Amino acid sequence: MSFPLPPPPTYPALSYELFPPRTTSAEEGLWRTIRALEDTRPDFVSVTYGASGSNRDTAVGLLKRLLDETTLKPLAHLTCVGNSRDYLVQLVYELISRGVRGILALRGDRPLDRSLPEGDLQHASELVELIRQAERQLTAHLCAGRVAVGVAAYSTKHPESPSTEHDIEVLLAKQAAGADFAITQVYFAPEQYSQLLRTARRAGVDIPIIPGVIPFTSVRRLERLSELAGLQIDARLKDRLVSAGDDAERRRIGVRATVDLAHAALNDGAPGIHIYTFNEHAAALDVLDRLELSRPPAPGLIQTA
Ligand code: FAD
Repeated sequence: MSFPLPPPPTYPALSYELFPPRTTSAEEGLWRTIRALEDTRPDFVSVTYGASGSNRDTAVGLLKRLLDETTLKPLAHLTCVGNSRDYLVQLVYELISRGVRGILALRGDRPLDRSLPEGDLQHASELVELIRQAERQLTAHLCAGRVAVGVAAYSTKHPESPSTEHDIEVLLAKQAAGADFAITQVYFAPEQYSQLLRTARRAGVDIPIIPGVIPFTSVRRLERLSELAGLQIDARLKDRLVSAGDDAERRRIGVRATVDLAHAALNDGAPGIHIYTFNEHAAALDVLDRLELSRPPAPGLIQTA
């Protein structure tokens, strides 16, 4: 005999992206950010990985500290580029043995220097398969559980891709390889996320697609982003940031734009919001305040009556 269950608590997922610090002072700043973000009880925080493994030790060190010293659940980014298959397997074993239970499987950006090795795996979907294979070797250690595997999705065409339709096929291949969820690349217009969601669902992608949003508070960051990710930046937003009187006004403009994107995505059915923080908490917290995102109760406050 089965009894009707109460509905599960429904609140949007919340997560942040951090990157491993390069200097001691950057590390101190990052830890102030981590403590401030921890208070918002995110579902996970992701830690980037330099393609080719350039920051491997700092990334693993940060993941370890997050596990040992905070209540946060880390999602480790991992890239194919520049790494051999064996090296990636060893790294997955290491992450799992240290207690990491979430991995974002990425190809990584190809090195500009063509003399550097590209790595054994060509596409992120192959890394998803590799993680699933490695996970099966550690079933007992995982208490027969699984690692959550995420992948990248694109609200605007990936710069190397022939079309957005091809991007959807790639996302479908990542799902078929075993991905549990996707996080989008930065985008600027609400309809770009709704379009991605619509076409992905129509093509059979049923994993959650979490919109990734950046508080656009600086022109320099906007430009850097366009260089790194090949994104076409929003000219109107850029103009407004350029003509803002001071940093406080830029922050207001950037936060407002991000809140609008996040609201629109949640209204379209997004399962949550992933905030690219650039290791700074002030603008991310402003976004959260204005979004008024409902969060789960603090531990110990769940009503059981
Ligand atoms: P893939 O899915 O492999 O796609 C790469 C290209 O290959 C695309 O053009 C795709 O269309 C094509 N492709 C894929 N599969 C096939 C196939 N089977 N046949 C033909 N073509 C195919 N980079 C980092 O270096 N470190 C990070 O920590 C990092 N974090 C990120 C986090 C998020 C949420 C996102 C969205 C991106 C991140 N990136 C990171 C950037 C990412 O590595 C780049 O966008 C990279 O160019 C593509 O990665 P991918 O995982 O989407 O690759």
